[in-house]
Amino acid sequence: MILPISPSVSQLANPNAGQTQLYPVHTSRAWCQVAQKFTGGIGNKLCGECPARAGEGVEHGRSVASGSRGGNVTFSPPHPRQRSRGFLAGVGQGRGSRDRRRLTNLLPACDGERPTLAFLQDVMDILLQYVVKSFDRSTKVIDFHYPNELLQEYNWELADQPQNLEEILMHCQTTLKYAIKTGHPRYFNQLSTGLDMVGLAADWLTSTANTNMFTYEIAPVFVLLEYVTLKKMREIIGWPGGSGDGIFSPGGAISNMYAMLIARFKMFPEVKEKGMAAVPRLIAFTSEHSHFSLKKGAAALGIGTDSVILIKCDERGKMVPSDLERRILEAKQKGFVPFLVSATAGTTVYGAFDPLLAVADICKKYKIWMHVDAAWGGGLLMSRKHKWKLSGVERANSVTWNPHKMMGVPLQCSALLVREEGLMQSCNQMHASYLFQQDKHYDLSYDTGDKALQCGRHVDVFKLWLMWRAKGTTGFEAHIDKCLELAEYLYNIIKNREGYEMVFDGKPQHTNVCFWYVPPSLRVLEDNEERMNRLSKVAPVIKARMMEYGTTMVSYQPLGDKVNFFRMVISNPAATHQDIDFLIEEIERLGQDL
Ligand SMILES: *Cc1c(COP(=O)(O)O)cnc(C)c1O
Repeated sequence: MILPISPSVSQLANPNAGQTQLYPVHTSRAWCQVAQKFTGGIGNKLCGECPARAGEGVEHGRSVASGSRGGNVTFSPPHPRQRSRGFLAGVGQGRGSRDRRRLTNLLPACDGERPTLAFLQDVMDILLQYVVKSFDRSTKVIDFHYPNELLQEYNWELADQPQNLEEILMHCQTTLKYAIKTGHPRYFNQLSTGLDMVGLAADWLTSTANTNMFTYEIAPVFVLLEYVTLKKMREIIGWPGGSGDGIFSPGGAISNMYAMLIARFKMFPEVKEKGMAAVPRLIAFTSEHSHFSLKKGAAALGIGTDSVILIKCDERGKMVPSDLERRILEAKQKGFVPFLVSATAGTTVYGAFDPLLAVADICKKYKIWMHVDAAWGGGLLMSRKHKWKLSGVERANSVTWNPHKMMGVPLQCSALLVREEGLMQSCNQMHASYLFQQDKHYDLSYDTGDKALQCGRHVDVFKLWLMWRAKGTTGFEAHIDKCLELAEYLYNIIKNREGYEMVFDGKPQHTNVCFWYVPPSLRVLEDNEERMNRLSKVAPVIKARMMEYGTTMVSYQPLGDKVNFFRMVISNPAATHQDIDFLIEEIERLGQDL
């Protein structure tokens, strides 16, 4: 749908010109708007301060903003029945003057309380409809459009002229119409799925509080919650008394880069002032199944991707410790300095857990910083049944753990945890005197912002903290156990089913189930290059069809010498056994003719 285009200046000046008469100039506000167009500052002064609202259906003389007037009357939100007469009611209907309210009618405008509440209630109605629909299996996961189609389907362009709030609400609706329902029970595409109600509420609160994590001064509660939550996470990792350090960062990739940065600083503190020219050639080690962010971090930090050595994995995708030791010795022989080993707990594709105890022994022997990338697998620490898969994580020097993945916390929520306290601060601090004044009247150790690479930092902790309060540790445990049980259910169905081949043998360790679907026409072929070629094209076609039908979404990729295979992952608490059954049926329905 194309929205009516904003009126031109000439239409404004002459309201009778053109058909779309968006500004009936018989209201005082309309004149104000015209005046503002032409007189700029003067118009604002005349009309913006306290515009007359005659003829706009807004009550006068309400006791709002009472605080500033000395009164004590609070403003109550509109009654639900009144709400239905709000902005949304006007969408697509007759053009009552109410429907043409603008941003300028909302707070901080005088008398802006009522329209503001009505507007936000309408936004909330749109959001709530979307939330409810997200869980409805009869709605699509995705209403797919090709990019050029989507560009033309709607007027997305930015214009000089303001639009009214009715149009703004339509933009909200339209944006959600084309959004992917990541909370849908059949959305399996990413490691971050699901929509937690308390997490969502916490995110709304976070946006409403709209502050910045750099100091206690401006984020007192959030700074304390970050302290409390990180400490709890360190306790769960197994560091004595939850001691150590940490930060919420903008994602696992950045957390991994932090680990690399701090490990390098620990070994060569002079690098902070003198740069890489002052240090020998550093080498990091991680497995060939590890996340690409390790290489990105090395590139960004001036270490270089050639200095990230990829250690061999076994057939299940776990790092082979003997190969790690061999490559460390090799690097030392060349005169290079091994400074970091990043073991992965829950690899992105296979869901494999590197043998952390063996890696820890090697790191200890050669005095190398041990990092554990548990971005995906960290959630299993919440489960008494599955935490053994991370045995040895307590020996790490740093751990990346993304609650926004397995624990279902809304994006973004990723923690980097560091065993040694104070290192992050000395590595990153710059003492900006306009933020971190040393003569403030409170305990400055709560001004944690200088630990970060960022200046301003988003509040990511509140979602996790509030969800933790709502679920308890046992609630997270139940969620994780359930997702792993669902993965095992899927594995048990397809391991012996005609038309499926597993990418690796054995029960999945995480919720990753990796498999090929082999259509009937390929089942008769010999295992040769042609079959591989054809098999590599199956998953992409099925995926494309899934998206066009909008019924479900699951990811695929090649890895090493393995051609495109499906990687099913389950982190969505809404998924059930029936949804797993549905996925299998859907793959067969969409792929049997290939
Ligand atoms: C997802 C993932 C990351 C990156 O996390 P982001 O939050 O997406 O930046 C790092 N490591 C592993 C193992 C991952 O699965």
